[in-house]
Order: sequence, then C-alpha cells, then structure tokens
Amino acid sequence: MSIIADNLREVENIIALAAKKSGRNFETIKLVAVTKTVGTPRIIEALEAGISEIGENRIQEAKLKYGELSERKIIRHMIGHLQTNKVKDAVKIFDYIHSVDSMRLALEIDKEAKKINKIMPCLIEINSGNEISKYGIKFEEAAAFVRAVAPLANLRFEGLMTVAPISSNPEDLRPIFRKMKELLDHLIEENKDLYPNFNFKHLSMGMSQDYMIAIEEGSTMVRVGSAIFGKRS
Ligand SMILES: *Cc1c(COP(=O)(O)O)cnc(C)c1O
Repeated sequence: MSIIADNLREVENIIALAAKKSGRNFETIKLVAVTKTVGTPRIIEALEAGISEIGENRIQEAKLKYGELSERKIIRHMIGHLQTNKVKDAVKIFDYIHSVDSMRLALEIDKEAKKINKIMPCLIEINSGNEISKYGIKFEEAAAFVRAVAPLANLRFEGLMTVAPISSNPEDLRPIFRKMKELLDHLIEENKDLYPNFNFKHLSMGMSQDYMIAIEEGSTMVRVGSAIFGKRS
C-alpha cells in the first residue's frame, strides 16, 4: 500500500475511534483532505484510496489543479481566506466556501452566485481564539452577523468553521471546540425557520493536530492535510 493510503486508513481509524468515544455515528463526520501544496498525482492517489472531499486555501492553485481533476466526482471545499476579487472564480469551482468572514464578502458571493444561478453552500468563519492574526467573526458578533447575512438569497448557510489557535497540547483546545458547538446550537435555536436558506448543521473544525478532540466536541467536518500527505515543505 502507498504511504498516502496507509495514512488515510490511520486517520479514518482515529475518526471512528473519536466518534465512538463520544457516542457519535462516524458517518456524520466528513473528512476533507486538505490538498494545498500537494500535486495532482498525489491527490489522485488519495482519491483512489477513498477520499471524496478535498480542500484548498488558494484560488489560483485550486484552479490549476481542478482543471486536471475535472473528470473526477469530488466535493471541493474552499477553506482559506477569500478576497472579494477572487469570488467570481470561487463560486464557479467550489461546492463549499468555509470562510465567509465579512459582510462585504457575503454580498459579493451572493452577487456572483446569482449571476450563474447557483445557491452557494457556505460556512461562517469564527475567530475562536480571538487572535489578531486570524480572520473570522468574533464569538460575540456571530449572532448579529447571522441575522445580517441569512436573508441573502444565493447563499445557503450550513454552519460554522474555525481554525483553532496553535497549541502544543491539543487537549487545551477542547474548551474552544466546546464553545463552537454551543454557539452552533444557539444559532440554530435562534434562526431556524426564519430564513429559507438558513440550514445550519455543520461544524468545520479540527486539523491534523487536533481533529480527534474536535470530533469529540461535535465537529462534522475535519480538515486534515499533513496527517494524510505528510509535512508540507
Ligand atoms: C492547511 C489547513 C488545514 C490542514 O492543516 P493540517 O495541519 O495539515 O492538517 C486545515 N484548515 C485550514 C484552513 C488550512 O489552511
């Protein structure tokens, strides 16, 4: 077996274990393989090993690689910060945008999605560690942000995403993941049935270092790169 296939089996085992530990069905957890900096041949290797969802953080790179992968049935996730001048491309090539982090961006996605008759599935990015260096809506501002963007007709809001702070001990991040799950549940309670396109259900959180903890705390989408493809150079 290839290293990628080996790594993938191990990640899948850990996902199953974390799900079991927290009494969840592992089928409710999506594995998004993060393919940034990974070349197309190795992405194809991962697809052949069973990956069906992939994530990129840069439009330029995604466009190049997705051109070569156009025949493949895969779900494509935009997980990085999105500049408004790249939105036109993003709504065309991605199935999900995880990183809606401003009103301006939401309006632009709505406008471009409308032009191509698409309802764009999106997540709202939360700056869960309150870090100056990170993008995302603050916890305290999330409720008002949802009320402002939920009426947009060409976005479908499916939940929240976060990039947790870097930590030498992933266990330290558990309270942050827990707070994200509480926020999701609160927002569902507050907004369900109010907007046709409000369909909160997903929590995109957990990366190679911490996805087991994130799953135990309610993640439904883990974004795993280096644990599958090895360290990025
Ligand atoms: C790179 C990246 C990941 C994956 O990181 P790994 O530590 O390699 O698993 C997940 N989410 C985002 C937003 C990323 O940019």
